[in-house]
Amino acid sequence: MSDAAASDRQAAKAKMDELVSLCARRGFIFQSSEIYGGINGFWDYGPLGVELKNNLKALWWQKVVRERDDVVGIDSSIIAHPRTWEASGHVEHFTDPMVDCRACKKRFRADQLDDAPACSSREGTSEHDFTEARNFNLMLKTSIGASQDAAMEAYLRAETCQAIFNDFKRVRESSRQKIPFGIAQIGKAFRNEINPRNFTFRSREFEQAELEFFIHPSEREKWFESWLAERLAFHTALFGKDALRVRPHAKNELAHYAKQASDIEFLFPFGWQEIEGVHDRGDWDLSRHTQYSGKDLSITDEETKEKYTPMVIETSVGVDRTTLALLANGLVQEKLDDGETRTVLRLHPLVAPIKVAVLPLSKQLNEKAEKIAEDLRRVMNVAYDDSGNIGRRYRRQDEIGTPFCVTYDFESETDRQVTIRDRDTMKQERVALDGLVAYLRDRVEAPL
Ligand code: ATP
Repeated sequence: MSDAAASDRQAAKAKMDELVSLCARRGFIFQSSEIYGGINGFWDYGPLGVELKNNLKALWWQKVVRERDDVVGIDSSIIAHPRTWEASGHVEHFTDPMVDCRACKKRFRADQLDDAPACSSREGTSEHDFTEARNFNLMLKTSIGASQDAAMEAYLRAETCQAIFNDFKRVRESSRQKIPFGIAQIGKAFRNEINPRNFTFRSREFEQAELEFFIHPSEREKWFESWLAERLAFHTALFGKDALRVRPHAKNELAHYAKQASDIEFLFPFGWQEIEGVHDRGDWDLSRHTQYSGKDLSITDEETKEKYTPMVIETSVGVDRTTLALLANGLVQEKLDDGETRTVLRLHPLVAPIKVAVLPLSKQLNEKAEKIAEDLRRVMNVAYDDSGNIGRRYRRQDEIGTPFCVTYDFESETDRQVTIRDRDTMKQERVALDGLVAYLRDRVEAPL
């Protein structure tokens, strides 16, 4: 490794260490079952993390489902009939190549060996002694039914979209949708990843927000481009364009049924990585489920009487990966004029866990300040903090991404105004108490 590459790697590691530590310290994200030593590939979201992630999901739902007439949502069960996963091809093909080291007994993904730490069990060399690669199925299994003999083997879903295909006919008919239209869902997915890594980036339990958009076969190109542009605009509004790129899949990366696919990638501290995939899945899923279930999932166009199986354009985004991207993108150490450094989490106000902190300048002013917090709480998530000096209180809010702080001081008693401080510019302005709710709503609820 060159010196430059080694120092890049070190900087990336330092940034990730800082992020992981902030997330644990301030209660965004931490190891699952921490008191038992944690469990690899599983994470818990704390009080701030759950707000951030919920805001992101709500934003996705707003843009993809509610603002459109041609998309409806569902919330399906995590466990589907096991035939689902035979039809989808997961039982046979949802595998990653795996190798074992005969010396240290560690397991690795055969296509990610560049990042494998050195072997510590061989004398005279740090090289691993790898077995041949073999395929490892990533689906997590469970069994259903009380009696062992009659138990049915089932899978925790590896992606949320298969239930959308299972439910396609019912949802189309009940919501009276016509092609083109989409079905969306947000929910947990499970993959027994060989090497979970990079914090929450590759976990074994994670959330996806997926849209399956059903179209006439003649409109594949148009809808693929349209959804790719739509989803890129969503991420650009959150991250800015320099942190993003689109990577079209090469022909040899495509699933055999797919016509084209592009990843939307974000520049993580550990490099460019996929946060969302946009795929043209053709009619693979509906045809396979027709074949395996024996139920006809084709449709007949009412006007032309044409009978066909719709094609599907899919957009699939990782909620946890995007949350991680928001945290990585937002976290900055900023040098201030007085030589001090402040940690600030520059989150878009729409996703920020707390929108405003109310800070009485003195404990004597608590009663009035509490009343302001109470009024604001009806419309947004509010923090109240009356401990420590005001500078320290501002810093605590900067670190968790609160876009605004409202300070109630002695002057407020007479002029009925408060000071609003902006997280990013640190500028302060006086705003009339009467207009405070409207002022803040304008700034934290402006649509994307
Ligand atoms: P990768 O190549 O990184 O394993 P993938 O191409 O298998 O991802 P998809 O099956 O297209 O991913 O899933 C769609 C989205 O789900 C991904 O863009 C990602 O954001 C998210 N995702 C997939 N696997 C994981 C995981 N193990 N942990 C967290 N998020 C994941």
